[in-house]
Amino acid sequence: MHKNRVNILGTEFDNFTAKQFHHYLDADLDNNANKFIVTPNPEIVLAARKDTKFSKIVNNADYVIPDGIGIIKGAKSLGTPIHERITGFDTLQYLVTAANRKQLKVYLLGAKPEVIQASADKIKKDYPQIELVGFHDGYFKDEGIIAEEIAEKRPNIVFVALGSPKQEFFINKYRERTNAVWIGVGGSFDVFSGTKKRAPKIFQTLSLEWLYRLAKEPTRIGRMLAIPKYMNLINKEKKNSN
Ligand code: UDP
Repeated sequence: MHKNRVNILGTEFDNFTAKQFHHYLDADLDNNANKFIVTPNPEIVLAARKDTKFSKIVNNADYVIPDGIGIIKGAKSLGTPIHERITGFDTLQYLVTAANRKQLKVYLLGAKPEVIQASADKIKKDYPQIELVGFHDGYFKDEGIIAEEIAEKRPNIVFVALGSPKQEFFINKYRERTNAVWIGVGGSFDVFSGTKKRAPKIFQTLSLEWLYRLAKEPTRIGRMLAIPKYMNLINKEKKNSN
């Protein structure tokens, strides 16, 4: 899977369509393969530049998918375009639908207690063929106990929503305990459970989801400053390669 990757400021993204990606995931689920999906956005690309250990974990994942329009813009600007944006949230939705169709076992980890409870309730209600083998909020003391529980329950898919880079470090450390498709999904349970609304379609179409999130949560301004910083680095890289 590492053949067709596009390097953006040190992070190597897979360059496939969502449809191709979903085919790979279907095969992985059918084969009970052990896979690790990461979904970097510009903020994560910048974090990986500052942390070699984190960068190695990201680049060694089985799938590195472009979450965020900034990645698509950056790739185009560097003359190495990527097919399309594939978000962590869309991948979560694809995986729960596939798990329901294939009657698979799922484990949910992360987010606040009420958010993970609401996510579990939604799975039970809307995806009744899924065997939800367990769930736990993301505010635990002993990660070893959680990892042990996940391994014992033998899920086919493990969704980990601890925020980045915590979730990637967690998956990297424990994924060998049991064969599953492991994915770090950031704040996706907040949206999946209905606790937070995803940006309305018009914002999504105009690639302005970030603006919607900022209006809802002004404290994200610090994190969002990563985007101009990232675009600046892309422009510098572009000039150097000319
Ligand atoms: N979170 C968690 N444990 C922690 C820190 C964060 O479970 O120790 C959860 C938090 O509740 C939220 C998610 O991780 O659901 C991260 O959300 P954020 O909006 O930062 O993620 P993004 O989608 O922006 O990466």
